[in-house]
Amino acid sequence: AEHLTKVYKSVDRELTVLDNVSFSVNQGDSMAIIGPSGSGKTTLLGLCAGLDTPSSGTISVMGFKLNAMSEDDRAYLRNQYVGFVFQNFQLLSTLTALENVMVPLELRGVRDVAPKAKELLGRVGLADRSHHYPAQLSGGEQQRVALARAFMTDPKILFADEPTGNLDEENARIVTDLLFTMNKENATTLVLVTHNLELAQRTQRILRMRGGKLVEEIHQVQTV
Ligand code: ATP
Repeated sequence: AEHLTKVYKSVDRELTVLDNVSFSVNQGDSMAIIGPSGSGKTTLLGLCAGLDTPSSGTISVMGFKLNAMSEDDRAYLRNQYVGFVFQNFQLLSTLTALENVMVPLELRGVRDVAPKAKELLGRVGLADRSHHYPAQLSGGEQQRVALARAFMTDPKILFADEPTGNLDEENARIVTDLLFTMNKENATTLVLVTHNLELAQRTQRILRMRGGKLVEEIHQVQTV
């Protein structure tokens, strides 16, 4: 990301929510973005994931320049390489947990995807909830289904907004362990927005934001 700025304009004023933010992440690295509420973390993640466009500045993901791409091409890039876990989960209400996890690979025309979906549901501790619909799952369970779904396509990069936000300590640890297992096993690049310092401290780098600016970058020695 280079010199990213995001300005929201309303009738009578402009609000700069991201102000000249630049950073890069190498393939297979892990990074956490932390900072107070309203500091621009989710906005930054949405821009990097190609879900929104910056007012100025450029973003490249895996060498693809998002600014120069059509919305269709951005969608293709997301489908092929990018995983997301965003705060509102976006599970499909008419599908069971298992079916929700299967969707991304089914959309690619892959057959017999249930075994992989079951394995991932097991890894997030939800083997016994496979046939529940989202309305029959708690918020934390829905969040874990969303994470299992995000890993279904073996994404090269995962953007996650508060992946442990709705979880108790034990489930936060399950999710954190899965994130770093995928990071180690598959070299999935992790870009995480979090208020969970335990999670942030397991990443290689922490970016701290305040008032739309990147105010600090901490490189960490990894112990796990
Ligand atoms: P939190 O930790 O509470 O999730 P955050 O750091 O992720 O906060 P953002 O969601 O990125 O913060 O929001 C940054 C600022 O941008 C906030 O002040 C928010 O009110 C503002 N904002 C976000 N989306 C819009 C929008 N569509 N129009 C106007 N302002 C917006």
